[in-house]
Amino acid sequence: MCQATIDFIRELYGRKDFIPLHEPIFNGNEKKYLNNCIDSTFVSSVGKYVDYFEEMVVDFTGAKFAVATVNGTAALHIGLLLSDVKRDDEVITQPLTFVATCNAISYIGAHPLFIDVDKNTLSLSPEKLLTFLQTNTEQVDGRCKNKLTGRLIKAMVPMHTFGHPGRIKEIAKIANDFNIELVEDAAESLGSYYDGIHTGLFGKMGTLSFNGNKTITTGGGGMLVTNDEGLAKRAKHLTTTAKIPHKWEFDHDTIGFNYRLPNINAALGCAQMERLTSIIENKRETAKKYQTFFSAMEEVSFVVEPKNARSNYWLNAIILKDRKERDSFLEQTNRNGVMTRPVWKLMNHLDMFKNTLPTDLENAQWLEDRIVNIPSSAVI
Ligand SMILES: *Cc1c(COP(=O)(O)O)cnc(C)c1O
Repeated sequence: MCQATIDFIRELYGRKDFIPLHEPIFNGNEKKYLNNCIDSTFVSSVGKYVDYFEEMVVDFTGAKFAVATVNGTAALHIGLLLSDVKRDDEVITQPLTFVATCNAISYIGAHPLFIDVDKNTLSLSPEKLLTFLQTNTEQVDGRCKNKLTGRLIKAMVPMHTFGHPGRIKEIAKIANDFNIELVEDAAESLGSYYDGIHTGLFGKMGTLSFNGNKTITTGGGGMLVTNDEGLAKRAKHLTTTAKIPHKWEFDHDTIGFNYRLPNINAALGCAQMERLTSIIENKRETAKKYQTFFSAMEEVSFVVEPKNARSNYWLNAIILKDRKERDSFLEQTNRNGVMTRPVWKLMNHLDMFKNTLPTDLENAQWLEDRIVNIPSSAVI
């Protein structure tokens, strides 16, 4: 099965050399816009490409507002600050995520509270979430208090794993019922929809990433999306050193952040946004080929988009029989120049988060033992 998979992937990409997990493609106006940007001298904190880039993300996602940031982690940090998360509060997230989600929570001095994922969506499980909240929390002055720790649960950050939308409508309803702010980590799911609505738009805010390994890239970059004008304005203010606009005076009304996206990165982003629809079509076709290939193998299951969802198939994933099979598959593919990776080590196993409140995480553990990501770049 392993050799057959290696052969299939080599044929799919038509390459005999090393096949990476995910590489960016620059076959549009990237060089032109970058040159324009350099010629204009506005490569840094001022320039028109940031506005264009934000407008393009608004047009594409259907969000009312978008605020560009220096990376996706910064967008999450700001999203949580604007959700009134403070030191010693708790923020619900899933143990199966990239460390950035938990880092953003920790920057505020808040604590992640891990709730299990679904085996089929790989994202936060509404059932486990509801059970935890019903059993262990009480409402105090319109806030959700965790009776086990005495802390307030201010926000939740579900994450759409590998671009596959989680059951975000059910999650949003629970968040609303328990007075918890919803901030979606849509870093991996640009171009993914649930019930026809773009991921990141089910709560007050969502965040995107344009890191080099994502569906499209600005080198490094992120974006906060929201339908709330007040929040968008505050996000822009906070990410640009909280400077009060004035032609020459320096006045800042709070401690702000230098989280703005440089114009040169935004220029790259504009060119990439122009290609986004065709890149996603291409990735979905590749995923379909994988799905057909793996459907003939009993011992492997290929992860497909969940019900009611349309996925960007950012990273293709397969689920193997057990951890031993996973390790042997990783070993053989990587030895043969086909890059594959296990899913992230669960967050509750990392040193910084291992003392968080223990909860039932059996699905996440089951998935950690079995998931492997396989090459997912657009086929050109
Ligand atoms: C990529 C990613 C982020 C943000 O990453 P940056 O590198 O800071 O842009 C956040 N969460 C998840 C799940 C990610 O995959």
